Amino acid sequence: MKPIPYGKQEITEDDISAVVATLKSDYLTQGPKIHEFEKDFAEYVGATYAIAVSNGTAALHLSVLALGLKPGERVITTPITFAASANCVLYAGGEVDFVDIDPETYLMDMQKLRGKLEGKPRGYYKGVIPVDFAGYPVNLEELKNICNEFDLWIIEDACHAPGGYFVDSEGKKQKCGNGAFANASIFSFHPVKHITTGEGGMITTNDERLHKKLLRLRTHGITKDPQLLLENHGGWYYEMQELGFNCRLTDIQASLGISQLARADDGLKRRMQIANRYGEDFLYNDHIKVPIVSKSVNHAYHLYIIQIADRLGLYNHLRKNQIFAQVHYIPVHLLPFYQQKGWKAGDYPMAESFYENCLSLPMYPTLSEKEQNYVIEKVLEFIK
Ligand SMILES: *Cc1c(COP(=O)(O)O)cnc(C)c1O
Repeated sequence: MKPIPYGKQEITEDDISAVVATLKSDYLTQGPKIHEFEKDFAEYVGATYAIAVSNGTAALHLSVLALGLKPGERVITTPITFAASANCVLYAGGEVDFVDIDPETYLMDMQKLRGKLEGKPRGYYKGVIPVDFAGYPVNLEELKNICNEFDLWIIEDACHAPGGYFVDSEGKKQKCGNGAFANASIFSFHPVKHITTGEGGMITTNDERLHKKLLRLRTHGITKDPQLLLENHGGWYYEMQELGFNCRLTDIQASLGISQLARADDGLKRRMQIANRYGEDFLYNDHIKVPIVSKSVNHAYHLYIIQIADRLGLYNHLRKNQIFAQVHYIPVHLLPFYQQKGWKAGDYPMAESFYENCLSLPMYPTLSEKEQNYVIEKVLEFIK
């Protein structure tokens, strides 16, 4: 049996042909494939606009800047996420704060968020970055109601959840990244995510002004749009109107993304099958806590996380058997960099107890039935 990682990309012959065709074309970057990928992706999540960028972290960084965060301003996120969800606030000179997780969904606890906001003067916080952790869609309708009350913007970190949705109070399916509630949503195309471009990211929004601003920030703050120019010296003329970056995705990557996106729903279906199978085998096991998923969401299962008392023991047992489970995540506030900023153990007890016991089992579309059987067998062997 080959080693089994917790997550893995799938590259098909079609993917390879798509990339080769772009390599033979006139454009390697910022050509037609970028626009095609953006159009396809916006359609997939149900948003008006999509902006392709170099990675998910750049997507977060540019979104925070585009929403106008200024040095010293405060933004709230969850401690159970990848560090980038918090770091992006610091890139803009802002300050990050956290709200503890709900122990059932592992998502930011909305009651605690409300409590935190009510304890501060209006305007103390500028925005919230909720995370569709593991693929569990945040109820953005509920969050939006809170954010309207306290004047906060929302950047949905949807890196784990392309294809996921929740059902709103009117019974409508609201897909992650559709822009109905969040000002912007961000995605990553790192190889462990649902679809990959090697490195890559996407921002989706329904806000035309934000879209224009993000396009400028992606490429140095430069525009050539005649409607936006202050002067016009001729066909060559451009203006740098603000300080932007080079966060462009290449056409080579975009062509891979288009090809991957075309079968994203198949991958999602397979992830759900795998999750159901784990659920069947572990649900009634007293030693394992499986994810609890509300009927009103479509979980995208980027990760399949169980909780177990002897997490280190199980991790080592699986590793010895060539199964490379992983831990998602060490709470952000306990990372040394954040502890140096003043956070400490005990600050977010739910996040910390989740971290003590969580383990992500192998979850990716090409995980075969035989491999999954082997993983289940080795987990149960440890528990006995
Ligand atoms: C992967 C990930 C990111 C960062 O994406 P990169 O493309 O690796 O920069 C941000 N947030 C979450 C929740 C992620 O899983």
